Amino acid sequence: MKIRKNDTVVVIAGKDKGKKGKVRFTYPKKEEVLVEGINLIKKHARATGQVRQAGIIEREETLHVSDIMLVCSKCNRPTRIGFNFLGDGKKVRVCSNCHEVID
Ligand SMILES: [Zn+2]
Repeated sequence: MKIRKNDTVVVIAGKDKGKKGKVRFTYPKKEEVLVEGINLIKKHARATGQVRQAGIIEREETLHVSDIMLVCSKCNRPTRIGFNFLGDGKKVRVCSNCHEVID
């Protein structure tokens, strides 16, 4: 996966298009991510044994990685991610705008 936990991403499709957030979890098998404050859905919760508070709760739903873009921490612009190899053979992510190493 090109997107990792704690990356800042911008949504490029769907109802939250244009919003930015921080990646909280990644689900590489599904190619989905959970982004803080993005794609919120409201759920009605009933007071049960485990959940004492009834009412409407908001929680984030996952987004597919094709619906988001990484915001480069160096140039602060949404970017496509490329890969590069360092001298020691380590694979790193690079920004396609400013060509800086993101990792
Ligand atoms: Zn950049």
